[in-house]
Amino acid sequence: MSTANYNMHYKDQPEVAESSRQSNLWFLPTPSPIRVAAAVQALTPYEAVSSQAVVDACPDQRNSFKLDWNESTIAPSPMVTQAIAQAVTSGRGLNWYPSLGSVELIDGLAGYTGIGREHFLITNGSDDALSLICTTFLDQGDEVVVPVPTYNHFVVFAQSRGATIRTVQGFDPFASDLEGLRAQLSANTRLLYLVSPNNPTGVVYHPEEIEVLCREFPNTLIVLDEAYFEFAQITGIGLVERYPNLIVTRTFSKAFGLAGLRVGYLAAHSELIGGLSRLYNPKSVNALGQIGAVAALKDLDYLNAYLKEVLQAKEILRTFFAERGVEAYITPANFVVVRVPNVAQTLVQLESRSVYVRDRSSYPGLGGCLRMSVGTVEQTNRLLERLQDIF
Ligand SMILES: *Cc1c(COP(=O)(O)O)cnc(C)c1O
Repeated sequence: MSTANYNMHYKDQPEVAESSRQSNLWFLPTPSPIRVAAAVQALTPYEAVSSQAVVDACPDQRNSFKLDWNESTIAPSPMVTQAIAQAVTSGRGLNWYPSLGSVELIDGLAGYTGIGREHFLITNGSDDALSLICTTFLDQGDEVVVPVPTYNHFVVFAQSRGATIRTVQGFDPFASDLEGLRAQLSANTRLLYLVSPNNPTGVVYHPEEIEVLCREFPNTLIVLDEAYFEFAQITGIGLVERYPNLIVTRTFSKAFGLAGLRVGYLAAHSELIGGLSRLYNPKSVNALGQIGAVAALKDLDYLNAYLKEVLQAKEILRTFFAERGVEAYITPANFVVVRVPNVAQTLVQLESRSVYVRDRSSYPGLGGCLRMSVGTVEQTNRLLERLQDIF
């Protein structure tokens, strides 16, 4: 052992521990590679393909269209940026832990959603909520039913628990098939994952439909992912007050434009909150994220103006694709799905014009499909100049 250096002033260049040259540990075996947990070894990892690096490298960001991750295409409300700037320069200080349990944000959400404070947990993005749900409620071998195509990241979290995933595919991926879904559910179904509006198809589940499922399958935990709620304005969140087998997840990443801050939440019956709280990390949402989300909820005019832009932009796209006879699905969320004869060729054409979309052609029922986020009217009109000679 070398003598430790007790000088408390750190240097710019850290002293890296050298592996002992004259090792006296030769008689012990060399460590072997550490095995990944069986369930993690067996899962299909989430494929994080993003245009981010290319777009960041572009000198004029206005000149490229990052439409591959369904993010908001504009900056968040100026109130968000101001609140964060103020917090950094004169606030509580970054040396302190964030507000435990995000108390002020929960107050804001109670006002925003109209349900009681006791129903919320704030999470580090809604992905974190989905992960917490799987860890809290799933055991090895539990049956999880997932209508596909849908948001795959949830499936990864469920698989990591060793759950058995049962996918349900309807005849038409762009229409909900409640009958087909019910036929696949049973008293043995531990969890049902529904996304509404669904990513990437836009399929919506109405609260009356969710309520029927909650009643009909009382042993099943229904997880309703409403990441795109704001765009469709159809929600089952009010049901969590009555049904102890429903969790709704939402996010500030999409309509509120705060994807970089990582703030999401879940709303559930108090009994479920009790279970989730056993494992919930009360400091997982960073202080600036909380401040930004609180400020965003105070500027709903800004949110509504953006929602209106996206609605109008979707109509512009609808007309554009209809005129050209292109098979396009204008979803109730902030993205459209377009079916093209040659995916690879269209992707190259789009990228050569700095338009980045998501290839969804490998998803069940979505052969030839590309998904594209929708932004403001002004952005969409500029986008169409580039799409004109492709479609
Ligand atoms: C984007 C998305 C999420 C993840 O959102 P974060 O809050 O940023 O983690 C969750 N579910 C669906 C369906 C999404 O599309």
